[in-house]
Amino acid sequence: MKRYALIGRRLGHSYSQQWFTDLFARLGLADHSYDLCEMPSVDSLRQWVHREGICGLNVTVPFKIDVIAELDDLDDTAAAIGAVNCISVEDGRLIGHNTDATAFSETLPTVESTEAIVLGTGGAAHAVAYALEQMGITPTLVSRTPEKTKTGNGKWGVIGYDQLPSFIFHLSPLIVNATPVGMYPDSDRSPIDPVHLSALITRHSSLVYDLVYNPSPTKLLQMASAMGAKTVDGLAMLHRQAELSWDLFRATEA
Ligand code: NAP
Repeated sequence: MKRYALIGRRLGHSYSQQWFTDLFARLGLADHSYDLCEMPSVDSLRQWVHREGICGLNVTVPFKIDVIAELDDLDDTAAAIGAVNCISVEDGRLIGHNTDATAFSETLPTVESTEAIVLGTGGAAHAVAYALEQMGITPTLVSRTPEKTKTGNGKWGVIGYDQLPSFIFHLSPLIVNATPVGMYPDSDRSPIDPVHLSALITRHSSLVYDLVYNPSPTKLLQMASAMGAKTVDGLAMLHRQAELSWDLFRATEA
């Protein structure tokens, strides 16, 4: 049996098991499985992977950064981002990769903006900030505790939510939600209040991208759409990062 899994603290929202199960069925891989594995921490990840005979992993909230300490190596992209959402097991060694960044840039529609507000400072925010930088868009991350947050070793600017109204942009910024706020089962929440959001959505060309895909649309996207912004949910990104993860997993089976 080839066992793959998603690890995270709470996984009730996840569509990953369904996506991989459908893929394995389409490919006729009856000896492949993909499980959702909730765990309180990643402290004993290595022992768990070897004991359970796991061939590859995806990583979600809140472990994409902490998991790095448990790995044997990182590929160059994951090292530059400082977050891992995909782990391949190669000759017993755990190798970290990041497929979120490419999945985000490939699913981001063309935007005029040269600046972006990224809500959150966790693993997904790192991947988004890296991807934006590669596209020539300057990211500013927004944190509940900006004074404590050193994202990307200080590479990206971090501000507090209370600083948003006074932040000056040249063009209407791209707005990205990279927090879990609004995700199932807490679907009635938004990471940003309507007053702050409407101050940011100053043009009809504004785009709000929510990495959350369950539910869709999120409360944030419903508000943004009512304010005239274009919106994108996280579903296409979810599928793309899974395809890219499978490419990495498949390479270790060859
Ligand atoms: P994470 O590492 O736990 O980071 C989330 C960040 O959000 C935290 O660093 C925190 O920043 C902020 N945050 C957490 N709780 C908050 C709250 N109650 N209010 C405001 N801000 C809060 O999680 P992640 O792995 O980056 O994932 C974030 C979200 O993106 C999740 O919903 C995940 O499912 C989604 N995601 C989707 C895709 C996709 O393919 N569609 C890919 C990756 C991630 P501060 O403490 O600095 O405020």
